[in-house]
Amino acid sequence: MVIVAHPDDADFGPAATAAKWIDGGSAGWLVCCTSGDAGGEDPDTDPLALAALREAEQRAAAAVVGYAGVSFLHQPDGALANDLALRELLVREIRAFRPDAVLANDPEAIFHSDGGVNHTDHRAAGVAAVDAVYPAARNPMAFPWLARAGMAAHRVRRLYLFWSNRPTVWVDVSATIGRRIEALRAHASQIKEPDRLAERMHAWAREEGEPIGVAAGDALRLVVIDEDADEGPDSAGEAASAADGAGGTP
Ligand SMILES: [Zn+2]
Repeated sequence: MVIVAHPDDADFGPAATAAKWIDGGSAGWLVCCTSGDAGGEDPDTDPLALAALREAEQRAAAAVVGYAGVSFLHQPDGALANDLALRELLVREIRAFRPDAVLANDPEAIFHSDGGVNHTDHRAAGVAAVDAVYPAARNPMAFPWLARAGMAAHRVRRLYLFWSNRPTVWVDVSATIGRRIEALRAHASQIKEPDRLAERMHAWAREEGEPIGVAAGDALRLVVIDEDADEGPDSAGEAASAADGAGGTP
């Protein structure tokens, strides 16, 4: 599950990783907290018309990436707040889709290490996603009316934070960077220099792929909340690989 502030964040963010994992058999779901109703240059733009356009653009982009669906939470663009109302909406999404992993903005990035300010909505969406994942989604007593209504608690095991100043894992997205660029083209209202889009995205992905020596990479900060059964020094998986002499298991 990818949780973002605006339509287009997921496609400027971890879309190539999402496409790769979906191709590998994962099911993906995209949650946009706002519909991007302030994403224009003209103060006379009708924000509701812009929101409808941007939702359509995001649905087209999501079809390119291969998500099973998209949810829009219809929070105000530019005024997104990590309040209890947003947390409940996100817990509903998490308990309905029941993801193993959630991809979200790194909420600790106020300033990007390579320059610029991280949008307030990105930070709010990031911290809201983290707070919804842990502990609210897994605690049956958080928003207890949800569990009573059949939305059982759910444990998300991992967070992958994008646009982070402190990446810890790198994903080879050489096979899916083209899908990300195609998805971005669907956000026509937001792409100012479409002719330069592919070049810019390839350059960005090349930079993020450098640490692992691939042509295109996504750099992410991984937070493991619960280890998988085959992880950790005392796990059965490690014992099995030692017993059969396979060795070298990362
Ligand atoms: Zn954004």
